[in-house]
Amino acid sequence: MNFSFDIKHAEGNSLARVGTITTPHGQIQTPAFIPVGTKATVKSVLPEAMADLGSQALLANAYHLYLQPGPDILDEAGGLGEFMNWPGPTITDSGGFQVLSLGVGFKKVLAMDAKTFRRDDVIADNKERLAHVDDEGVTFKSHLDGSMHRFTPEISMQVQHQIGADIMFAFDECTTLHNTRRYQELAMDRTHAWALRCLDEHKRLTDERIGKPYQALFGVIQGAQYEDLRKKAATDLGSMQSSGQSFDGFGIGGALDKSALGTILTWVNQILPTEKPKHLLGIGAPEDLFVGVENGIDTFDCVLASRIARTSAVYTMEGRFNLSNSRFKRDFTAIDDECDCYTCTHYTRAYMHHVFRGKEMISATLATIHNERFIVRLVDQMRQALLDGNFADMKADFLGRYKHRSGQASN
Ligand SMILES: [Zn+2]
Repeated sequence: MNFSFDIKHAEGNSLARVGTITTPHGQIQTPAFIPVGTKATVKSVLPEAMADLGSQALLANAYHLYLQPGPDILDEAGGLGEFMNWPGPTITDSGGFQVLSLGVGFKKVLAMDAKTFRRDDVIADNKERLAHVDDEGVTFKSHLDGSMHRFTPEISMQVQHQIGADIMFAFDECTTLHNTRRYQELAMDRTHAWALRCLDEHKRLTDERIGKPYQALFGVIQGAQYEDLRKKAATDLGSMQSSGQSFDGFGIGGALDKSALGTILTWVNQILPTEKPKHLLGIGAPEDLFVGVENGIDTFDCVLASRIARTSAVYTMEGRFNLSNSRFKRDFTAIDDECDCYTCTHYTRAYMHHVFRGKEMISATLATIHNERFIVRLVDQMRQALLDGNFADMKADFLGRYKHRSGQASN
């Protein structure tokens, strides 16, 4: 087995720590931000550029790769990293979130008021339900061609073994904040039964696919906003064993109100085994990364940095702003004069404004390079601050500037 996590430094007054995850394809120094290449590509950016900007690993999505090109193609290619020309560590998420979110139209529903809206059969208006959950698995309709498919814990493990990422996630039922408390309990029971089945199938496949690089399996902690459910999830999955296997690490997922992020992470990370890595699924706004790190998160992933880059929104020490705004037409400074990325050292805001206005393809490439570098570097700086013993100062300094100026330039 070629997977380990070594903690080099742990803070005395918080759950924050610095460590190294070792995989068959290399190491990840933590805490680390992992950029997302959903369909085995970080949209518009070459893998070499992702390495240059400091990305230590990439995360792809099992649901999308299952539908296209199909996991057998990735297996034949020698695995995800080999297929996409990324020599470093890779991660796949299980597809549970995508299967269910495409099924019930999460995006539309989430626009409703989470505090007053409670319904188990959550579905957006005028949207056909594309996924049905039962105790065995999820039946869903492809968003590409309408064909019917079924994911079970066993199928998710088979798909993720064929994709061949260094770290995989157990198949879970992802709920929304709109589900009732009763439904959250049912979904959690189902997720835990599925977790046992994932461990069994993972063990079977690991033995069967002898000679392939070891793939680590992380369990996923659900429980929405409920303290007892989150703690139960951490207790159950933290100690779960089957076929002589336990989880190699944990993902913290599911519905959560970001204002409760720190509280929820404290509940679960005080219970989960200290010596195993913790990944926060799908959260990556600068202010949330600090909350994650100080509450024991080792790795993050989020599509936000690249998604907003394609709409001309960039992160800077002056806060987040939009390069297509006309005030940048004659601004011959870098996007962020403190950034060391390829874009900031070679291009101006005026040029970026021009290529966004002209809908030039290079606009997405250059803005994505900057945003991914900004977030990767921010978490790298947190790691260094932990080692230097000045995390609190670094956080206060960053958020003081970032939030203050975001308020001034909020377009
Ligand atoms: Zn930059």
